[in-house]
Amino acid sequence: MHIHKFGGASVKDAESLKNLSSIIHKQNRPVIVVVSAMGKTTNVLEDLTEAYFTREPARAEAVFEKIKQFHEQIYLDLGLDKYAKKAAPFTEVFGWLKQKLHKAPSLNYDYEYDQIVHCGELFSSLIINTWFQHKGIDVQWVDARDIIRTDSTYRSANVNWETSKKAFDRQQVHSTRIMLTQGFIGSTPEGISTTLGREGSDYTAAILAVLSGSKDVTIWKDVPGVMNADPKHHDFSEKMPLISYQEAIELAYYGAKIIHPRTIKPLENKKIPLYVKSFLEPGEKGTEIKHVEKEIKLSPVYIIKNGQVLLSVSPRDFSFIMEKHISRIFDMFDMYNAHVSMSQNSAINYSICVDCNKRKLPTLLDRLGEEFKVLYNEHLQLITIRHYTSEAIEKMLKGKRVLLEQRSRKTARFLVEDNSKVH
Ligand code: ASP
Ligand code: MG
Repeated sequence: MHIHKFGGASVKDAESLKNLSSIIHKQNRPVIVVVSAMGKTTNVLEDLTEAYFTREPARAEAVFEKIKQFHEQIYLDLGLDKYAKKAAPFTEVFGWLKQKLHKAPSLNYDYEYDQIVHCGELFSSLIINTWFQHKGIDVQWVDARDIIRTDSTYRSANVNWETSKKAFDRQQVHSTRIMLTQGFIGSTPEGISTTLGREGSDYTAAILAVLSGSKDVTIWKDVPGVMNADPKHHDFSEKMPLISYQEAIELAYYGAKIIHPRTIKPLENKKIPLYVKSFLEPGEKGTEIKHVEKEIKLSPVYIIKNGQVLLSVSPRDFSFIMEKHISRIFDMFDMYNAHVSMSQNSAINYSICVDCNKRKLPTLLDRLGEEFKVLYNEHLQLITIRHYTSEAIEKMLKGKRVLLEQRSRKTARFLVEDNSKVH
């Protein structure tokens, strides 16, 4: 078995769906195809969730229609209008969503988010299924929620590997060629939909690779492979042909957007190689991520994470910052799902750079403020340079004000003001 994962950019319109089907058609071996929601659909579904949760029915209705029309138009663009009418599951999901929007939301935002946002992957996979069938390709659509079993940590669900394995083995896959399913989504033992975190389809691909004992995973992207910098922002970016699991996990951890951070571990554990390739140039080699014996010499790799917050926390009574304080602070971060990107302590002050959901930040600040003195700066940028050189650092820090910095043997990190956000 081989896993092929297609992200939002590779399924953004009718042309890209045709491209996907031609890539898959050329694979003369059994594959599992994992797809994301089309283009920016997840963002639009997030808007829908917001409108629903804040009880703005007119806005919710407008966003719903926009999503519906966008997907229906894809059927037409594919010349599938007569099939679209028959595409019952597709219409059912929209019907279900519409009904949901007419009911009052619960008080749990993250729960409501998952109930709405998971639909994006259902829509894209259902359209692709119809297209494959129309082309006479032997395919079987599988609802990923019947396989990926999770706990109920909405928006960042944790996979139960044991029950997922059992569920996978129970699936009756008749198609000998293509199993088509969704990334990003799962369900609790009670059958309630969950999501694995933004960009989580990569992770689904890795989970399915382990469950099915696949030989490899290919992630199809709109870039030639894993680059040493974001090609959309830096003209000096270049492809890295081979990297180790170790390096990939570090890059993902520091915020490289190329692969979802949870993806590498399951693949590394089973030594399943991962290929990152361009769907625009499917014949090109891309990047290979695998176990390597000898460390590969790499040039500097640049990773930029926006939207960071720097908190400066100190005990109210001017006492030293002690382990017990730090442990309290981390408990609160854990409670509000704030991810610590970097931290540093001095005698009476603990500086922490966190990546925090905008909704949760005010409550986190209030909670911390009850026990500590807290100062904070928002809209910061965290620049990480792996395999740094002094030229690389100079290049990235030009004209930037550094608020916090740390260097280890291989990695240099700088928290800077995001110039685009300073007025
Ligand atoms: N559609 C989801 C997102 O955009 C999951 C994914 O694309 O991997 O975050
Ligand atoms: Mg996406």
